[in-house]
Amino acid sequence: MIRHHKGGVVYYTFPHLGWGVKHAIFTRLGGLSHSPFDGLNVGHLVGDKDKAVEANHRIIYETLALNAREVVTARQVHSHSVAVVGPEDKGRIVPATDGLVTETPGLTLMLRFADCLPILLYDPQKQVIGLGHAGWRGTVGLLAQRLAETMREEFGCHLPQVRAGLGPAIGPCCYSVGEEVREAVQAVLPDSSGAVVERADGVYLDLWEANRWQLNQLGIQRIEVGKICTACNTAEFFSHRAEGERTGRFAVLMLLQGE
Ligand SMILES: [Zn+2]
Repeated sequence: MIRHHKGGVVYYTFPHLGWGVKHAIFTRLGGLSHSPFDGLNVGHLVGDKDKAVEANHRIIYETLALNAREVVTARQVHSHSVAVVGPEDKGRIVPATDGLVTETPGLTLMLRFADCLPILLYDPQKQVIGLGHAGWRGTVGLLAQRLAETMREEFGCHLPQVRAGLGPAIGPCCYSVGEEVREAVQAVLPDSSGAVVERADGVYLDLWEANRWQLNQLGIQRIEVGKICTACNTAEFFSHRAEGERTGRFAVLMLLQGE
């Protein structure tokens, strides 16, 4: 990933996705929210002041020179539901969904994160994008694969030509899980996926490897993994695990540039 600075705002991009897709993984740096939501929190439902959250949304759209009216987002519920969106969805919050797919240039997909994994998919031939949000539930629900399969089924994407970016998330250094989660993961993913990491002090989940494996299984090879652990890096990212319930959400945005 490349780290960008614009004013006080810091965000990351995946260079291998190419010029056809504009995208950004924002950090918490550069916004107006006060502690514990400092500063660029885009979550409306976390207890932050609405005015600050709205100002933060304006900051991210200005940073990328985007029109706020072109944005579609989702009420994220740790599901494996994927929605196909188009021009009629501008300004909409899609209910109970953790994946968005579109072929509409300029339509800006946005999701919010605080430890869960951002999954960015781009087909440069068909000009289709997908954006997903996966914690352990989404990973066990194969959200990454559903996102890619939706691109194939709805728009005829040939998956080996799809490029993927897996963004900052809670890493295997910090994501300790209980027996229930371990069993759920191992029921779906083989040991060779690298999803479960056992150490002397417990069992850890590797969201990057678990989701990379899922995409690899569908023939997607060009995957860049931005291995920044959100829980280790709370100076830049919000982390539900490291900071508790009262923390913010950082934004990930993605849109097709069009002609
Ligand atoms: Zn960590």
